[in-house]
Parts: sequence; structure tokens; C-alpha cells
Amino acid sequence: MCFLFPSALSAVLLFVMLLPIRKFGDPVLRQKGDRVTAFDSTLTKLSVDMLETMYAAKGIGLAAQQIGKALQFFVVDIRTKSGADSEYEFTLDGKTVPVDILMPLAVANPEVEILPDDEWLYSEGCLSFPGLTGSVVRREKARLRYQDLQGVPHEIVCDGLFARCVQHEFDHCQGVLFIDRMEKADLLKIQTKVKQLKRETLARIKEFGA
Ligand SMILES: [Zn+2]
Repeated sequence: MCFLFPSALSAVLLFVMLLPIRKFGDPVLRQKGDRVTAFDSTLTKLSVDMLETMYAAKGIGLAAQQIGKALQFFVVDIRTKSGADSEYEFTLDGKTVPVDILMPLAVANPEVEILPDDEWLYSEGCLSFPGLTGSVVRREKARLRYQDLQGVPHEIVCDGLFARCVQHEFDHCQGVLFIDRMEKADLLKIQTKVKQLKRETLARIKEFGA
């Protein structure tokens, strides 16, 4: 069974496109996303392309801003991270379900509530900052309210790596990046490379338009 993709739309899967991932310096990464209003085959196709792009880049989450669309939309699949299954728990609409039912997960119009729990320092990466990592403090537990590809509302309560990924992708949808939350000492260490990445991105946009 596949939770994400209704069989009627399976033909869409035949034409998967890998999308260029926007890098730091691209203004779209700083744009707050518009709400998703059309829950149609175009949205399903977008989610399929974003997931394949994310898998190809060996990521566990990807927001619409990262492929050049300022939307309140992201995809997640943390099953691919080795050892990740021991690093989180979750419920979907108040029930325990197998992770293969939930993921790959497409999230439209997310609202994230950080739940009172321990803070957790963890080294994060981001597909818009290739090769760069740094420690970010986040809360262990979060509640995510969102709509699925059919527009049906859901609620996920999650912790650990799942909660961290949700917070990271939700930030993208608001135009917030992990360097904004990174520990100062870690940011200082990669500052030169971050500035270089921004210069390269701006030069590429000037030459090629994206
Ligand atoms: Zn990211």
C-alpha cells in the first residue's frame, strides 16, 4: 500500500524529473512560501519530482524553495538515513502506524508547534549548502499539522530526527535557513565557504538566470 500516491495518478510517476537544487545565495531560499491551494495532479507530480531529486542528492528532506518554488510545501523520507529508525518515534492522527505507510511524506501548508522537551544539539546539513554542516539546537519533540496531497488535514507528533527534519523543512517554507540557527562557533568555521557559495550562486544566476 502506498499512502502518498493514489493509483489513478500512477501514470504521472513514469515521467519523473530531477530538478536543479537551488543553492545559498538564490533569493528564492529567502522567500516565505505561498499557501498550497490546488491539490491536484500537478502537486502530486511536484512531490514525485522533489522526492526523486532528494533521493538522488542523498537528502532526507527537501522544501519547495530548494527547487525554486516559494510554497508552503516539503517532502520527507528519513528511512534512507542508516540507523535513523532508532532515532525517532511518531504518531499519525493519534495512532501508531508503520513508517512505510507514512513515508515518503508530502506536507502542504505545515504548522509546527514545538513541544516542551529537552533541547538537542545535532550537526545538520542542507542540500542548499553542499558539503557544509554545523550544530543546531532544536527541541526534541514537535507537532506538525498539515494537509496531504488530497488536501486532507493530518497531525503528526514526532521526536528525534523526524522532529528535527520537520523543523528544518518548516523553516525553509518561511525563508529561514539552518545557518540562521547555527551555533556561532560552527558558523564562524564555515563562514568563508558560505560566502564563497553565495558568490558562486549569484554569478551563476547572473550568467544563466537560475
Ligand atoms: Zn535545508
